[in-house]
Formats: sequence, structure tokens, C-alpha cells
Amino acid sequence: MKAAVLKAPKDLRIEDVPVPEAGYGEVLIRVRATAICGTDVSFYEGKTEVDYPRILGHESAGEVVDTGEGVKTLKKGDRVVMSPTSYCGYCLDCMEGNTNFCKNGGLLGRELDGTYAEYVVVPKKMAFKLPESISLEEATTFIVLTTAVYAQRKINIFANSSVAIIGEGSAGLMQTRLSKLNGADPVIGISRSQWKLDLAEEKYGADYTFNENVEENVMELTDGRGVDYVIECVGKSATLNQATELVRPGGTIVAFGITPPTIDDFKSYALYYKDINIVGSRAMQLIDWPISIDLADRGKIDLGSIITHRISLDDLKKGFEMLNDRSQKALRIVVEI
Ligand SMILES: [Zn+2]
Ligand SMILES: [Zn+2]
Repeated sequence: MKAAVLKAPKDLRIEDVPVPEAGYGEVLIRVRATAICGTDVSFYEGKTEVDYPRILGHESAGEVVDTGEGVKTLKKGDRVVMSPTSYCGYCLDCMEGNTNFCKNGGLLGRELDGTYAEYVVVPKKMAFKLPESISLEEATTFIVLTTAVYAQRKINIFANSSVAIIGEGSAGLMQTRLSKLNGADPVIGISRSQWKLDLAEEKYGADYTFNENVEENVMELTDGRGVDYVIECVGKSATLNQATELVRPGGTIVAFGITPPTIDDFKSYALYYKDINIVGSRAMQLIDWPISIDLADRGKIDLGSIITHRISLDDLKKGFEMLNDRSQKALRIVVEI
């Protein structure tokens, strides 16, 4: 089968490798679509080391073509989306339902061979069956939606909560729509890019969007008080500091964007002075899959509009470059396999 194998940092080759076999409790999946994520790019560039050689890719959907022994819940022909991470099911974190903290798990494309390949083997518990209403390409967006659902399950948005989303990339757009579905009003989208804000209003239900004079505009909308929730989807000190300005006293910031290991100039005094809460959010838990699949199946959230580019496996390196090139206006690039 054809696969994108990382031999060393920046040494990515499209090669012919053996099709893996499904062992006990595993399924063999014909991969059809895999989205490119910043994490893949960091593996490619060597910013994060993996065991070489490694087939990259972890945001993906396909069809079951074979099942190993002990697999009763999936069968040949089932269309599935794959969770990017595995978990052991036996540690204390897993027993508490916190499979996203499992130390015995792994990520596709890092500890396990990933999905920039025609076929991949995954444990059955990592594959979630899709309804007919959702295409395999759209299903790659579930990897984003599930993380947004998890974050919003950790807070308590209710009717007429005010929510500001900082950063209207793929994740921010999912957070925007989910905030509306949870009853928030107003939902305010914030980004430097006008085209992302247009998408936030037109497809994902933002009530207001701003790319300048953000603080003044948000204060005007909230009678000078600030919003109940800020969902920060960028992960930089400037945007986290902006979140502390926009949140109301006693309000909550969801630190959703992945930050660098340390942040130097974070205005931490706001924690005390405004008595705010900061909520972290890491990946997703199991229940976020059925919740997300059901939301999309019932037409409540648009999975397809964030997919801006489609490429072939042979062009994967170009795709990695495109993702970081702002002039490309790439929200989500899907590799069709
Ligand atoms: Zn990812
Ligand atoms: Zn575990």
C-alpha cells in the first residue's frame, strides 16, 4: 500500500509498504480522508520527535475492510471516523472516564502508525460508526468538534450567556456554533482575518464579529461588564491577555488553544483582581464522539464548510506548507486517499 513515511525530520517519503493485519480486537480500515493538523507538521519538522520510521496522520475516516478476532461491534463495510488517540482502559484515569489523560495510550502517527496511508489498523474502540448522512471527508472534522464539545461540557453556558471566541480557525468555528446551540447570546467572534469572521457569521452563527477595537466593542455589547465566557482558541500570551480583559469579573476563560510550555508576560493579576476562572481542556473523552456524531447527523452543525483545500497523498508536503501560509487561506486541508 501507499503510505507517507517519516524517516527523519523533514525526510518524508511516499512509499510502498505492506498492508498491516488486524489482530485481536482490531480493525483494518481503508483510509479515505485525513485532515492535516498542526501536530503533523510539528512531527514533520522535527519539533516533536517520533520513533522513525513512522507513518504520520491522525485525523481521519474510512471504511472497515477486515476485522480481527473478538470484534463484534464493527463489520466489513462500516464507515467510521477514528479517534486519534488510544487508551488502556485499566488505569485510574481511564476508570474515571478520563481516557484523554491515559499514560498508556498513544497517538496515531506518533506512537502508532497513522493514516496518511491507504490502510491503517486500529483497536476497535478507536473507531466510531458513521451514519449515512455524513461523508467521510466531513467526518474528519469530528476530531475538531469532539474537542470543542469536551471543552463546553466542562463549563456551563446557558440561555443568554455571553461568549467571546478568540481565534476563528476550525476549532473556533466549532466553538462558535456550539455556543449558539448551548443557548449563548451574544456569541462574539474575534479574529484578525475578515474571511474567517465572515464564515463565523454566515455558517456558524456568530452574532457579532470583530477584528479591531475588540475590547471597546465587547464592552459596549455587555454594558461595560465583559462576557461571561471567553473561549481562547489561539494559545498565545497576547490572546490570553486579551481574554483576561474581555471576561467579566467572576467569569470564565477556557484556555483551549494549545500554549507554548511557558508564557512569560501573562497578566496573572486578573486571576485575583477579577476573581476569574481559567479552565483547561485537553483533547476529548469517549462520550464526545457520540454527542458530536449525533449533532452532525441531526444537521445542527456544518462539518464541511471548514474544509477549504483538498489534496492527494503525493502532495502531502505541499499541504504541510500550505497550512502555515496565511496567503493560502487554509482552514482545513483534507488529504484524499
Ligand atoms: Zn490533530
Ligand atoms: Zn488508561
